[in-house]
Amino acid sequence: MWSRLAEKSLNGEEITDQEAFDVLNCPDDELLNLLHQAYQVRKTHYGNKVKLNMIVNTKSGFCPENCGYCSQSRDSSAPIQKYRMMDKDTIVKGAEKASRMGSGTYCIVASGRGPSKRELDIVTSAVKEIKEAYDMRVCACLGLLKAEQAEQLKEAGVDRYNHNINTSENHHDEITTSHTYHDRVGTVSHAKAAGISPCSGVIVGMKETKRDVIDMARALKALDADSIPVNFLHAIDGTALEGTDELTPSYCLKVLCLFRFINPTKEIRVSGGREVNLRSLQPFSLYPANSIFIGDYLTTDGQESTEDHRMIEDLGFEIDVVNADKVMM
Ligand code: SF4
Repeated sequence: MWSRLAEKSLNGEEITDQEAFDVLNCPDDELLNLLHQAYQVRKTHYGNKVKLNMIVNTKSGFCPENCGYCSQSRDSSAPIQKYRMMDKDTIVKGAEKASRMGSGTYCIVASGRGPSKRELDIVTSAVKEIKEAYDMRVCACLGLLKAEQAEQLKEAGVDRYNHNINTSENHHDEITTSHTYHDRVGTVSHAKAAGISPCSGVIVGMKETKRDVIDMARALKALDADSIPVNFLHAIDGTALEGTDELTPSYCLKVLCLFRFINPTKEIRVSGGREVNLRSLQPFSLYPANSIFIGDYLTTDGQESTEDHRMIEDLGFEIDVVNADKVMM
């Protein structure tokens, strides 16, 4: 049965809702077969390459929004480091580190509802320098975007814009009320219209149903997101979702397989919460997914990048990197 799903996915056919539920309900003793079939799809489109992405959190905290999972939200009491927008030189310096670590994409992230003019000017001037100095992709993630702001980013050389849908349309209001699901979708559309590659993903484990998970995977297909980060909730004390702990490592793998079957040609990135939720099964995630973050997440630590490099090497996979000769292992 799992091979039939791989076949459909490779032929560009939609899997049915029943098949999607079957993936999420796959018995654990069939998980290896499921992963093997998801891997057939991943291998067809990406071989054994793994894309690495590194984040710089250019502005932390002080956000007026109320996303229930986020330690930077106005309602969070999590004891995070808070700071205003970094200066241009610090952002550019981060790109040099990302390049040394083999990251093909440098993700410039800032907290907040959306960028101010000053913040956008800092980011665009940093991006211009980075694109001149390094052969790497730049992704920006600065919140809700207006059409003209997307054009400004495109002009500066931004390759990709990330704005996650986070959850299903149906579940969205349980997670945040300070903006709508359609605000989020609108930002992805503005990026795409400006000629920037759209990146949009989800956070699984926020008390959503399996129906919601299937709807998220299909929504991202409809949005034609080129890159799909799949985060697994790492509930932080002091946030609205504090104490939520409903994921198992095997369920996380089934979610990744589902996303691969529904979005066969897209970059699927195992993102935040990888270490905490997948635990010892982390390496298996690279059979359905073809991309990971290295280094730290926004307000939580990731594992040492040397561990990630070793995991990729031990699997017999290869880093998909622009500057392969300069990678620091
Ligand atoms: S996810 Fe972004 S918009 Fe939502 S609270 Fe956190 S920083 Fe603000």
